[in-house]
Amino acid sequence: MVVESIPKAVGFFYGLLAFAALAWLWYSGRFTRRRAMPFLVASAFFGFLVFAPVFPYQLQAVVLQDTAALGSPLPMAIGGLLAFIVLALVFGRIICGQICPAGAVQELMHLVPVKKRGSAESRVPVAVRAGVFVVFLAAGLGLSMNLLALIGLADFFNLTVVSVSFFVFFSIVLLSAVVYRPFCRYVCPYGALLAPAASRAAYRLRRTDACIGCRKCERACPTGAARPDDGLGECYLCGRCTEACPVDGALVYGRGR
Ligand code: SF4
Ligand code: SF4
Repeated sequence: MVVESIPKAVGFFYGLLAFAALAWLWYSGRFTRRRAMPFLVASAFFGFLVFAPVFPYQLQAVVLQDTAALGSPLPMAIGGLLAFIVLALVFGRIICGQICPAGAVQELMHLVPVKKRGSAESRVPVAVRAGVFVVFLAAGLGLSMNLLALIGLADFFNLTVVSVSFFVFFSIVLLSAVVYRPFCRYVCPYGALLAPAASRAAYRLRRTDACIGCRKCERACPTGAARPDDGLGECYLCGRCTEACPVDGALVYGRGR
């Protein structure tokens, strides 16, 4: 369904505006999962409409220096990807939370009321994703291979249902009804760059002295990031922990650890 006549820059500017709105919601303490829902739907829509801002695919196109897929000059695309990494250094993974269409379709699918599986811990997913990142770079730089196209990321948003790779990513999306964000946590090469940035983010979720230690936030978190000793590199700012917390002001988004 991707409309090639609409510039991909439209998706990029949507991403910037959505980022500003979501950062303000978090900063002002107004973020709720209900308020995030329109962003998830809009982001998924932009993925199908202009295939942007699908950050991992932009990174793939940069590695392959494929300006046709980027829809913009190479330096501009590199600048955009670097800018969102810097934003993650300040505000955490807001772009993963609600803006990246690949993340949004998985987040929406995880709302399907079926029994959830998969462990809420980050070491194994992060290690697997680091390995995939090495393969991604080697395949792209060494063999000019478009690994994410093989996985079906482009065919999925293009609704190219006649291709085998469409069904690879479609299966990943279906799996995300049960397992939280399998593509983001185990595969995404851009996520592999965002996670270390987010683990040093200036603004982040943190507990205050009002915390009563009930651990409801930890049980609600699908990635294990709500543990007090976690660096939050795998925090997708989904809002499950703040929603689960029974004490006002015990778990807040703000500056510092
Ligand atoms: S981890 Fe990758 S695919 Fe997932 S939301 Fe972030 S950039 Fe998108
Ligand atoms: S539930 Fe986990 S992933 Fe979601 S915002 Fe809280 S710490 Fe981050």
